Formats: sequence, structure tokens, C-alpha cells
Amino acid sequence: MPLTYSQAKAAIIDLRWLPDEARAALRDGGDWEKTDHTADMGNPFVSWDSDKRTYVLTHYIATLEVRGGDLYDVVLECDADGNWDSQDAARYGTPESAAMLADYSYEASRPGWKDYWVYVLTTGKDPINEVMYRRDVRQVARESLVRDHGVAEADLPAPHPDDCDCELCADLARDEAAEWYDELNRGYLQDRI
Ligand SMILES: [Zn+2]
Repeated sequence: MPLTYSQAKAAIIDLRWLPDEARAALRDGGDWEKTDHTADMGNPFVSWDSDKRTYVLTHYIATLEVRGGDLYDVVLECDADGNWDSQDAARYGTPESAAMLADYSYEASRPGWKDYWVYVLTTGKDPINEVMYRRDVRQVARESLVRDHGVAEADLPAPHPDDCDCELCADLARDEAAEWYDELNRGYLQDRI
């Protein structure tokens, strides 16, 4: 299938930036991958982890790799130790790779963030320590929902009251009493220092 104009243009731009080793791998049927990614290059996704029963932060980055002489769009995931591991891959410039890249795009990350800020606003908890400098986490959540997610002031969800007896609040109260919750939070803080 011939490349469209925009695919061909993107290919020329991408390929121009490939180092000599990558070009050699393409020519000789070899392998090449870039290894010097840093966490701040990644696109942050926040999602509910049903095992840990809390939100977790994951960074993804899209890059190019040569595998067996073919060029691939590859999505890498940053693990807790800051190492990048291959998460998903598709042949470069194909509809499959376009769909894959869309799954890890900024747009795809937004619903997770909206859910997260609703959680922060309603519970007063910021489990991934997204709010820095000891600001009021609920105020930051409120601002983000209105400014970044188009939620009208009148539609902002109400915080759970202090004496709320819903399942989530019971869960949070139990977690805070548990030792592992402290350890979990220490882990998150260490990741961010
Ligand atoms: Zn509640």
C-alpha cells in the first residue's frame, strides 16, 4: 500500500533524525533501539489500580525502533525504577500504528485525569502526590476540572462530608490506619524526589 502524502512527509522527517546505526540496521536487516529516554519525556497517564485500590501514575513515550530491518512505531512504558520497557509496537506508518499511537496520546490521557481530579476533589486525597508545595488539593482539583476539563462550577461534584459513611470513605479510613498505606505513600514520594 503506498504511503499517503502526510505519511511520506512524516517518514522523511522521522528518518532524517535516525542515527547512522539505525539506518545501517534498516539496510542490513538488523535491530536498533534508542535507550536514553528520561521520565520527563513521557506522557503521564493516571489510572485506577484495582489491586492497590488507588490511583497510579504511568508514563508512556512513543519512539522508533528497527526490528529485523523493518521500522516500527514503539510505545515504551516507564516502570517504578525509571526503566523504559516496550509496551506496544506496530509497523511504522500503518493504520495499526496510528491507532496504537492514538491510544497513548495526550487526548487519550485526559479522561483518566478528569476522573482523578474528581477523586481528589471529593475525597481530599492526592495519592500520586500531584499537588506540590502543600497547596489545598481540593482547590487544585477544582481549578483543573474547570480550566482543563470544561466542567462548569455549578456541576463540580460535592466533596464527601467528614462523617461520610460511603464505601470509598470507609476504604480510605481503613487504608490510612493500615501500615502498608504509609509504605505505599513513602514509595510514591521517593519516586518523585
Ligand atoms: Zn464518602
